[in-house]
Amino acid sequence: MRTLTGKELAAAIRAQTEAEAAAGPQPRLAVVVATADEASLWYVRSIAKAASGVGIACDVVDLGPEAAPERIDDTLAKLSADANVHGVMLQTPLPAGASAQRLAAAIDPRKDVDGANPLSLGRLAAGLPAFAPATAAAVLALLDHYEVELQGRRAVVVGRSTVVGKPLAHLLLDRHATVTVCHSRTRDLASVTSTAEVLVAAVGRPALIGAGHVAPGAVVIDVGTNPTDDGGLIGDVDFGAVAEVAGALTPVPGGVGPVTTALLLRHTARAANLP
Ligand code: NAP
Repeated sequence: MRTLTGKELAAAIRAQTEAEAAAGPQPRLAVVVATADEASLWYVRSIAKAASGVGIACDVVDLGPEAAPERIDDTLAKLSADANVHGVMLQTPLPAGASAQRLAAAIDPRKDVDGANPLSLGRLAAGLPAFAPATAAAVLALLDHYEVELQGRRAVVVGRSTVVGKPLAHLLLDRHATVTVCHSRTRDLASVTSTAEVLVAAVGRPALIGAGHVAPGAVVIDVGTNPTDDGGLIGDVDFGAVAEVAGALTPVPGGVGPVTTALLLRHTARAANLP
């Protein structure tokens, strides 16, 4: 069984991004935050740190956990109109009553570096140029990095969120995989997932995918990040059990996660260089 780590790929993407960022005006990413959620704030700090490491300026615009949706909407619109800002991202979770999807519509698609505006997903579905959500793009980047053939192969994505499952299904379709998407109403999940040559779990349920869900030799990508009681992270895949069956498997942490952050920055550098 091959462990598909993301560290080396993330480092390569960062190096490429640093060169792209240095080639033009300094790219600037604005991350709008309206939460006190510690895990979310930790992620934003890690983005800011990684950005400075590749020569991208990162402004964290913290509106506080009580921010009204109108204020978030107004902030996203202003950042989208600011010529000095190249990438705009809205961090979740949001205050009760605020819809991430509705608010993300205020992000200019040309600056929508985490593919959150429904227009970006629509363009992706239509096969038009758009920024894909960094996590979905990271899954594809990992598959490419490890030279996993997609054309004509059976791919099963578990999870249909607009952040991961749906955009990823479109990216895989574009690469000529035969794609099935599963969700909480899927009957007999294991009978579907065990048909997959490439299986992606993006659910948010620790160890949902066990050995019985996986075909021998399958490539398994674990997007799930579930906090553990001791402050760690585990994925949606039971690593130990699935490693006995799968041909290749991503670890959590250290698989999709580092590639996601690196791609968010690459998207920002690309947004800064759009004609
Ligand atoms: P989400 O919006 O909660 O979506 C979860 C999806 O899983 C839904 O489509 C849901 O089905 C489906 N689901 C729930 N229970 C299921 C079950 N028992 N069997 C089959 N499907 C089931 O979550 P998300 O934002 O897509 O995130 C998914 C996971 O990825 C989370 O662990 C999140 O932390 C992680 N994540 C990781 C990264 C990274 O960079 N590594 C980035 C983003 C997210 P319904 O649609 O029917 O409700």
